[in-house]
Amino acid sequence: MTTWQPVLLANVNRPNSEKITTYLAHGGYEALRKTLKMSPDQVIAEVKASGLRGRGGAGFPTGAKWGFIPKDAPVKYLAVNTDEGEPGTFKDRLIVERDPHAILEGVIIASYAVGAHRAFVYIRGEFFLGVKRWIKAIADAYQYGFLGKNILESGFDLDVSLHRGAGAYICGEETAMIESLEGKRGEPRLKPPYPAQAGIWGQPTVVQNCETLVNIPHIIGRGAAWFASIGTEQSRGPKIFCVSGHVNRPGNYELPLGTPLREIIYEHAGGVRMGRSVKAVIPGGASTPFLTADKLDVPMAFETLAAAGSALGTGAVVVMDETTDMVEVARRVMSFYVHESCGRCVPCRLGGHNMLHELDIIASGQGKRANLARLEALTRGIPGITFCPLGTGMCEPVASGLKLFRSEFEERVS
Ligand code: SF4
Repeated sequence: MTTWQPVLLANVNRPNSEKITTYLAHGGYEALRKTLKMSPDQVIAEVKASGLRGRGGAGFPTGAKWGFIPKDAPVKYLAVNTDEGEPGTFKDRLIVERDPHAILEGVIIASYAVGAHRAFVYIRGEFFLGVKRWIKAIADAYQYGFLGKNILESGFDLDVSLHRGAGAYICGEETAMIESLEGKRGEPRLKPPYPAQAGIWGQPTVVQNCETLVNIPHIIGRGAAWFASIGTEQSRGPKIFCVSGHVNRPGNYELPLGTPLREIIYEHAGGVRMGRSVKAVIPGGASTPFLTADKLDVPMAFETLAAAGSALGTGAVVVMDETTDMVEVARRVMSFYVHESCGRCVPCRLGGHNMLHELDIIASGQGKRANLARLEALTRGIPGITFCPLGTGMCEPVASGLKLFRSEFEERVS
């Protein structure tokens, strides 16, 4: 079993972990002090050398993203994505509620590196406690001189404000989040231009996930070499895995990237309930394809999960035991996506409804082979022609359900 002393979640179980005094008592904001003695280019080089990839789902290299921000742009922004909505994902909420200063320190370091003097925290509207904790953390950081004018007498200025979303899943997509931040309806923008070129109010913007930002103080404080020594060749550093479903101990587990899925389920999450066996696992949130029980030894890393036919996504591991009805799983996941489609483009808006309609009929036992054929045709026809990745992502669980558990679908229509 992998032995790992948590760093990202090191503070979350301490008494009063959300308070700035607790954070400072355990070395908080020391990495910021170190950062302010470095040049912005040195900070970006350190993050690049660490090999950190975004933890929000896409896995884009963080240092490279920062490097895309034009140096000569007069106004630049940083946006913190706390709109965690992927089913099965609950890691950012934990950090925001229990250790908001760990994110905020990452925000300040990232803003310094790219030359942003204004940062926006966008948070899911339902995270009531998280909203309170963010507001208090930002206020305390101003009071202690970590935000505002001339931070720690470095000459660097940064203002941070918090903005609540209204619970739309699509606002976790970076351009929809930017639209919402600007006060508009949360719908994705066409890319390119990417936010690094034209983000909030058309200005270059870095959008980062909370877990990604929590890694930054550790990379600066402990060094890029320390971070790069953890994990696999293409997936460096620690990762928080959110384990849920039919396990005995669901929860957030921080482990090095590359930890085998079997170890996460059986050693850390206590195994499958009632001693049953695994039937399927969603390894990275609802939009990642299923893995079957024969894939449990896959290392949980970007490249290995891609080779296994799925994706690391947000690291949200949903375990389903042998009693699970996979037709019903596909139907429920699809009903989520149909509800959350922003409706902007036809393949997703209408195609999603049509897929759910076919799944409803098949799950009810009234379906015929034609329903299955139509469902399959939709899973082939929609991916790649939607305006944003949600439309393509919503087909993945159904397509992989049809591929891996076809006999269950066939039985329902026979
Ligand atoms: Fe909206 Fe879906 Fe089209 Fe994305 S794919 S823009 S969520 S309708």
